[in-house]
Amino acid sequence: MEQREEREKMTLILESRSSNEKLARVVAAAFFSRLDPTLEEVEDVKTAVSEAVTNCIIHGYGGGPGEITLEAELEAGELTLRIRDRGAGIENVAQAREPLFTTKAGEGRSGMGFCFMEAFMDRVEVDSRPGEGTVVTMKKKSRERQDGVG
Ligand code: ATP
Ligand code: MG
Repeated sequence: MEQREEREKMTLILESRSSNEKLARVVAAAFFSRLDPTLEEVEDVKTAVSEAVTNCIIHGYGGGPGEITLEAELEAGELTLRIRDRGAGIENVAQAREPLFTTKAGEGRSGMGFCFMEAFMDRVEVDSRPGEGTVVTMKKKSRERQDGVG
């Protein structure tokens, strides 16, 4: 298969409401599909987007109004996703990324969201400032495409 060199980008701006979690996941998956990923790879991306957007809604904005931005980019067979809120932010990112760490244990949260993102994507970066918001950047290559190169 011919490797496309040009970069493709898209941006989706969503209101912070739970119905938009599915929309974000479906749009990210459709965009990623341009790399001819396996079904499993698509499911991985959907899960990661779902976790990140849910975090913006429940933690970033605490269920209240706000704006969530999903930026996606395809380049050299790799998907980059950037999911941003301008909500509460995270005091201690290293601690937040630990398995089972949650600030909403009483509300049925299990503290596994970041772990799922890490498990299903190749790379996950979290940049956050209390009172300013959070940006989660995630990358994933389509393995099939990788193997097909060279
Ligand atoms: P789960 O995802 O299993 O339902 P959780 O959301 O608490 O539970 P993680 O997704 O791993 O677990 O997030 C860990 C913690 O990091 C959260 O409890 C919250 O304190 C903080 N956090 C994550 N995302 C954000 C965000 N966008 N804004 C503010 N805080 C966040
Ligand atoms: Mg979570």
